[in-house]
Amino acid sequence: MKKEPFVTKEQIEEIVKTYPTPFHLYDEKGIRENAKAVKEAFAWNPGFREYFAVKATPNPFILNILKEYDCGCDCASQTELMLADSQGFDGKHIMFSSNDTPAYEYKFADKIGAIINLDDFTHIDFLEKTIGKIPETISCRYNPGGVFKMSNGIMDNPGDAKYGFTTEQLFEGFKILKEKGAKNFGIHAFLASNTVTNEYYPMLAKQLFEVAVKLKEEVGCHISFINLSGGVGVNYTPDQEPNDIRVIGEGVHKVYDEILVPAGMGDVAIYTEMGRFMLAPYGCLVTQAIHEKHTHKEYIGVDACAVNLMRPAMYGAYHHITVLGKDNSVCDHKYDVTGSLCENNDKFAVDRMLPKIDMGDYLVIHDTGAHGYSMGYNYNGKLKSAELLLKEDGSVQLIRRAETPKDYFATFDCFDILKNMKDPEK
Ligand SMILES: *Cc1c(COP(=O)(O)O)cnc(C)c1O
Repeated sequence: MKKEPFVTKEQIEEIVKTYPTPFHLYDEKGIRENAKAVKEAFAWNPGFREYFAVKATPNPFILNILKEYDCGCDCASQTELMLADSQGFDGKHIMFSSNDTPAYEYKFADKIGAIINLDDFTHIDFLEKTIGKIPETISCRYNPGGVFKMSNGIMDNPGDAKYGFTTEQLFEGFKILKEKGAKNFGIHAFLASNTVTNEYYPMLAKQLFEVAVKLKEEVGCHISFINLSGGVGVNYTPDQEPNDIRVIGEGVHKVYDEILVPAGMGDVAIYTEMGRFMLAPYGCLVTQAIHEKHTHKEYIGVDACAVNLMRPAMYGAYHHITVLGKDNSVCDHKYDVTGSLCENNDKFAVDRMLPKIDMGDYLVIHDTGAHGYSMGYNYNGKLKSAELLLKEDGSVQLIRRAETPKDYFATFDCFDILKNMKDPEK
């Protein structure tokens, strides 16, 4: 499938008059249509809620759009909890799925009434000591170990992952939690990442539903929700077939009717914690070609770098690139598209066939709406870019300004770096 940007060259030429490149741009229309489709795909389950994984795109404007489609928030740190709380999300619509959790974060999660999803058996004691009780509603993260395989060959390795309770620990943990006063239980698992197949959620659901029935029968606890977590992927490469959330929702519905309903558990709510699927395709990084370098290879230097988008440097991840205005030109030039960090892995593309790029061309790096801006950092003293929202009426709203040197130096409390510069205007 050809990957088309959601923005035109003409629109970008207009936007850069106010907001210079690089920036992340989000597509409000796409976000809304997709959030609506997710809600509809699981409408068969009255308790359904998508707890958007805040770490994917921690921006209050984005959270507020998703809130209109009844999304909650999935948080993994105090600042993410603060962000969700500040935007008016009800405590029970905030999931705290963290691991290696410090005491102050459990305290804070409890204070705002978030649902706590324990990552480990030993955290039962740790939580009780930290907040002085076991909450009435509690969830545990399950890791069955081994290898998770799907029929199309996609697999992942839960046995190698640091997260979750083993099966034995889960049964023992629920018993203990029940004795300590927990009333409503949740089961959570994240067994494969970025799955581009409609099969993942239904397969995971089947496994979790079977465990839930056993837990109900053997421990006698009331399972009130099952959290399928994240892991639903997007088609980063043009040859991949995108997931169809309607098919996924129906697949989960089928196993729900097969396993939970006959066990008298037709009241269990399904929760999800998608990040990537909710946002990745509806964001792009817009950058400008500023240098071309002809040495042992052909390089195009752009004004963005790994600080703005880390996935290619970190995982060798593929992000499709469109050279605006040259969508229909032949891709007869082989380039490495690089950023400016003093790291040779700071490349958005390696040996990529693209149209001939001229200096000043705008490049759209696709699918950066999740785990894009948010993974950013400040290596080489590079500053994070702005985030812009392309609204449904075609106008553009700044939803996070770009960092300035002042932000970068703000944590040196005892030095006024800017004031002590020879020429502070620089
Ligand atoms: C990262 C994460 C998610 C979101 O994952 P996606 O792949 O973006 O859908 C959900 N839940 C937990 C606990 C996570 O760590």
